[in-house]
Amino acid sequence: MATLRVEITAPDKVEVFEDVAYVSLDASTGSLGVLPGHADILGELGIGMLLVRTSEGEKVFAVAGGFFEVRDGVLRVLADALERQDEIDVERALAARRRAEQMLESSGGGDPKARVALMRARNRLRIAGKG
Ligand code: ATP
Repeated sequence: MATLRVEITAPDKVEVFEDVAYVSLDASTGSLGVLPGHADILGELGIGMLLVRTSEGEKVFAVAGGFFEVRDGVLRVLADALERQDEIDVERALAARRRAEQMLESSGGGDPKARVALMRARNRLRIAGKG
């Protein structure tokens, strides 16, 4: 029977899940569901959510971009930054959102770094349930 293992790597953490039933992730091209037996695939992660479901429940992460691949029954996620839902510091994300909004206001909306920072902060707040 096909199985799915998930290996998540970010600069500050590694998480491994065995016998995964289902994964949902936000690829740069849209949302993708991965079940055991999924075809091999390589893609880019957007700023969004990663959900891993096992028999023990669901783990939800905020992801700030990166890459993923499914190969031989292993989904590898290489994230630029990633936080588990319960690790998200809401005050920090609110401050980051305020800073990005102020930078966008003073640049007339044209600062691409501020736009991406705003997306990261909004994503963290949404996943923490505070968006
Ligand atoms: P900030 O301006 O608050 O640093 P940022 O979007 O610039 O936010 P990143 O560069 O995406 O931050 O991430 C840097 C590191 O800080 C990563 O390890 C990331 O997981 C962590 N991080 C960023 N924001 C938060 C948050 N609100 N709660 C928990 N960890 C966070």
